[in-house]
Amino acid sequence: MVQALVIGGGTAGIASAISLAQRGIFVTIVEKDSSIGGRVSELCCKGEIQCVKCDVCLSLDRLYEVAQSKYIRVFTNSEVIKVSGKPGSYRVTVIRKPQLVREDACTACGKCGSVCPVEGSAIKPRFNRSVPMTYWIDEEKCIRMKGESCEKCSEICPTGAIDFKAKASRKYLNVAAIIVANGFEPFEASKDRRLRYGQIKDVLTSLEIEKMLSDSGKLIAPSTGVICKKIGIIQCVGSRDERMGVAYCSKVCCKYSLKIAQLIKLKYPETEISFFFMDWRPYDSVDNELLEWTRKNQGVKIVRSRPAEIIESENGKPVVRYVTLAENKIEEEEFDLVMLSIGIMPPSDAQKLSTILGIEVSPSGFISSEDAHKGIFAAGCCTGPKDIEESFMEGIAAANRVAAFIGGSK
Ligand code: SF4
Ligand code: SF4
Repeated sequence: MVQALVIGGGTAGIASAISLAQRGIFVTIVEKDSSIGGRVSELCCKGEIQCVKCDVCLSLDRLYEVAQSKYIRVFTNSEVIKVSGKPGSYRVTVIRKPQLVREDACTACGKCGSVCPVEGSAIKPRFNRSVPMTYWIDEEKCIRMKGESCEKCSEICPTGAIDFKAKASRKYLNVAAIIVANGFEPFEASKDRRLRYGQIKDVLTSLEIEKMLSDSGKLIAPSTGVICKKIGIIQCVGSRDERMGVAYCSKVCCKYSLKIAQLIKLKYPETEISFFFMDWRPYDSVDNELLEWTRKNQGVKIVRSRPAEIIESENGKPVVRYVTLAENKIEEEEFDLVMLSIGIMPPSDAQKLSTILGIEVSPSGFISSEDAHKGIFAAGCCTGPKDIEESFMEGIAAANRVAAFIGGSK
């Protein structure tokens, strides 16, 4: 049977795999994380009443298709470490990290989570909609991983799925073609020290706010546990900022932050929201949508300014300090919560994979070339910032190229 490898089980990888499987091509997805779905798995649907085309469901709804397809195999917690051979006939070595919770034995009964002594449990599904739906040990939280003695989860597990002695293993694949779809890294907000992320509790990234809305449906200030009434949104954090080494526009943050704000306003109509931005660059949506929405909604303000810094008020709240463009005046405004619209960075393993596969990365660190003659293709955010729909379409397009390559290489 003709086989292909897809590196990365996010939006583009899933689209590629399903499209190849529909053609009868056997696909192995190699995914670093313990679940496929990628970053989208932590985002929330923004269509409270009707669909607003945030596209979060576009790939998440297809995870089960992947799980059920007899043409798709998934290696989670795995990485490609070597590729040899020639176009149309590659030998791929994959390393699988120790499976502390065995996928083939975990029934997701949840008994382990109920006895874990860590607050919020260190063993749980990786995402709300993890595929495979296997429990996962958060090694940063698990006290056993920090050297304490604890086996509560493995003692109670009725299927013996938890194995702290598990070892890494190697897998070998023979594939005709490869699609690289290893996604992106979110900008590390603590790098921009002016914004005090990680120091002021109520400064969160857009991804954290999406996760909070996705998990609980509520928007709560971490410092007080109370629903937020006043929110500041700062655009272009880790985008278009030479000081941070990121000169490019992340393309999607304007669109998504507006959709998050609209969802918040729908849930909590009394909330005041202020947008701080240099200029509005919505990708694939109406240019003046923010302005129009601001006009129609009380309590929404736009501030044309890149904030200078966030300071902490006496009561521990974030205060945004900025210069007004019109009067060139320094202003300060206190919020219950500040959301940092963080940008899209290249995947952390782009350089390593480019060496293994013999493909190039751009000066900004994204995969910049694919080699159709070699049968190695790339799709999704690993080639540069893009939204969910574009990533999905690129995944399908890459599958088309693989099918053409395999047809031609027979
Ligand atoms: S107790 Fe065992 S089977 Fe149940 S969720 Fe935990 S690991 Fe899985
Ligand atoms: S070993 Fe203990 S702390 Fe770690 S996941 Fe299991 S129950 Fe939780």
